[in-house]
Amino acid sequence: MTDCHFLFQSEARISIVIPAYNEEQRILPLLQKLGSLRTPAEEIELIVVDDGSSDRTSDLCRQEISNQFPKGKLIMLESNSGKGSALRAGIAAVSSPVVITMDADMATDLSAMEPALRGLQAHHIVVGSRTIEGSETQGISSIRKCITTGFSLFLRFLTRYKISDTQCGFKAYRSPVAKALFSSSRVKGFAQDAEILDLGHRHDCSILEIPVRWTSVPGSKVNLVRDSLSSFLEFIWYRLNSGRRKLIYGISLLKNGTEGIEDEKGIFEFFPPESIYIRCGSKIEILMPDIARSEIEKIAEAVYTKFPDCEAHICSRTLRDLASIKN
Ligand code: UDP
Ligand code: MG
Repeated sequence: MTDCHFLFQSEARISIVIPAYNEEQRILPLLQKLGSLRTPAEEIELIVVDDGSSDRTSDLCRQEISNQFPKGKLIMLESNSGKGSALRAGIAAVSSPVVITMDADMATDLSAMEPALRGLQAHHIVVGSRTIEGSETQGISSIRKCITTGFSLFLRFLTRYKISDTQCGFKAYRSPVAKALFSSSRVKGFAQDAEILDLGHRHDCSILEIPVRWTSVPGSKVNLVRDSLSSFLEFIWYRLNSGRRKLIYGISLLKNGTEGIEDEKGIFEFFPPESIYIRCGSKIEILMPDIARSEIEKIAEAVYTKFPDCEAHICSRTLRDLASIKN
């Protein structure tokens, strides 16, 4: 896929996805800080996913987004489904080239953003680490440190990747890779981080760890015993079911006769938000990671009506194909 490149619907430079469950006490300082970065707010597609909160999280975020982030979005999940599900919904809505995920409590200092974005120029995924050289942590309890280290050792045993800290909430991805990875993910809770990195590693994504400054913020939603046990079980369940290689299906559009497709905006509006767009010569491929092949056949029928001067074919790509595209 050497002559192919991705297309993005949004003019924003970066997307930031924040999962939020009952965060009325913790999320405002983060949104205010993000609004005062050197990167202007118009260049940020801020996506807050309210994971079925029962407090004022969504009201506060809606207000802050409308005041500060013209390209911001609030996604509301009907019920509390876990951090993994919230991130999956947020990543599906991303429409800029790169995405950073971070926790609502701003435990990771935002100074990690610049090195993360720089890292994405050469890598598909950048992982914030609280344990590699150069990192600083404050207020992490010894019991939590023990459990996090134990979980990382357990992952090293079960996987071949050598990530020192899978569980830090701060990570950055090239968006098309993130969309493919998160749509393949099945873990709902906190073990999703490990699942995503394992999937990425097994499909030739390059992963860079960067040190972060991390401060424990009171109000964690994690129950150490319950969530550690469920993370452990969820990861084992993922590994037992992860043998199948997933193809991502989509539609390849080619304009009949003359070169290229004129109405690219129309294409972005026609397909679902989670779509990945790839231009290969005069063809545009629109991959729809969450949609089954049978549904895509129905969409292809509608494409003939909407774009009568285009030829449309069903196409498919692997995650490895996406990782091989340079931009
Ligand atoms: N979170 C979520 N759904 C949940 C639990 C947590 O979206 O069911 C979010 C939470 O709002 C926060 C992030 O996941 O943005 C990490 O949670 P927390 O800070 O409680 O975890 P910790 O940092 O203590 O590991
Ligand atoms: Mg936290």
